[in-house]
Parts: sequence; structure tokens; C-alpha cells
Amino acid sequence: MWIDTHCHLDAAEFDADRDAVVARAKAQGVGCMVLPAVSTANLDAVRELAHAHGFFYALGLHPMYVEAEPPGAVAMLRAALERHRDDDRLVAVGEIGLDHFVPGLDRQVQERFYVDQLQLAREFDLPVILHVRRSADALLKHLRRLRVKGGIAHAFNGSLQQALAFIDLGFKLGFGGAMTFERALRIRALARELPLQALVLETDAPDIPPQWLYRTAAQRAAGQTCRNEPAQLPRIAHTLAELRGLAVEAVAHATSANARQVLGLAPA
Ligand SMILES: [Zn+2]
Repeated sequence: MWIDTHCHLDAAEFDADRDAVVARAKAQGVGCMVLPAVSTANLDAVRELAHAHGFFYALGLHPMYVEAEPPGAVAMLRAALERHRDDDRLVAVGEIGLDHFVPGLDRQVQERFYVDQLQLAREFDLPVILHVRRSADALLKHLRRLRVKGGIAHAFNGSLQQALAFIDLGFKLGFGGAMTFERALRIRALARELPLQALVLETDAPDIPPQWLYRTAAQRAAGQTCRNEPAQLPRIAHTLAELRGLAVEAVAHATSANARQVLGLAPA
């Protein structure tokens, strides 16, 4: 069975056909997903969807949206973690992190939320799901100071040295549609060379479409869509199998075991 370790199934892009999206994923063998929250506004949505479909969820505040959070947002998150601490489907604090790529975001606000949420992960003894965009060193700096029980650096696109630093701190690295582009030389080199036991698979659906779904800005303006969905995970995994010279079954087995280990999921 495949595990999509990062899917925004509650996103509005899936409102019209969410059940069909889940059915297509399950038909492709993607029987397990982790649904990360991104704000105080969707903490309930990811939990309810995870329970409705037998998936898992994470609760956290995404760095791109923290400036829009109401006062007391971290306390609201803490209360939700407290309320559901005995819920086996709650597996991580996430999606949290730092985004140093998107222009105009307040880095100090992001950092404050990130540190506060690392503290929550420690308090509730949960791993974290990290948003890493041009921010690996800043994320690592705080992780070395505030140790958590590992987690996933999602959509990883850093250097080999940064990847190894995350691995040393108990993290797995999330790979998805980005590695299906032949020009993504750095990501493909990482996917080829990092230890197999450090890798997990993800779609980040509806975002990060693989190469075969990608549409240019001009095509999108002309009305073509490129929504990614969890049913794409096995085809994305074929790229990883090819890059590493492995059978796709071996990739399924290893990446699922890695995800289960780092998130503490019961064996299939
Ligand atoms: Zn995400």
C-alpha cells in the first residue's frame, strides 16, 4: 500500500469531487494519507476528513498564513492538540515551518509561530511536518535547540548537507511531483543518492503537479487546469524507482515503512 504523507484533501479545489478523488486514490493503492492543517480555520476539517476516510491528520499553522491568524491562534492550536491527544489519527504537528521564498512575508512573525509550534510538538510528544522553502538552515537552527521526535521535511529541495542534517535530527525527506521534471537536477540527485530509509512520498495535492499534469501559465490562463491528486502517487513513485534502479514494489515497501516509523502509524 502507498502512503501519501502530505495531501491537502480539504482544499477548495476538491470541493466538487472529493469522494471521487479519494476513490481514485484508493483504486491506485493509495490507502493511507496524512492530511496536514494549515490554519486555525481548517483544524476541524482535516480531522473530520481523516476520520471519515480512515486517514491520518496533523494540526498546525502554515508559515504562509500565520500573518492572517487571529490573536490567540497558538492557544487555539494547543487546545485542539489537547482535546485530541488520545486520537490515534492525530500523528504530527504540521504543517509548520518557514517560507523564505514567497516575497512579502514577515520572517519574524513566521519564526515566532514556528518556535511556538516546536514547543507544542515537544509538549505533546509529536513529530512535525515542516514546510521548507529556502529556509532549511533557519529551520535546522531552531530544531537543534528545541529537539522534537523527528518528522518530515516536506517537498524537500535543499542541499545534500542540509538533507543529512535533517536526517541526523530524526527526519525523513518528502519527495513528490517535483522530482518528475528532468530539469530538477538537484532534487533528482537527492532522490537518487540519499539513503532509502530517509525518503517518504507525498503529492502535496492539489499543488506540485507532476510533469505530465503540468500546464504553463499561458495554458492555465486559457482555462486548462493542473490539479494534482493523491491517485498520482504511484506514478510519481515510478520516477523514484527509476532514479534508484529499484523495483517499484521495493519503493512502495520502503517508503511506507519509513512513513509509518516516523509518524508512529500502526503497521498495515
Ligand atoms: Zn502542504
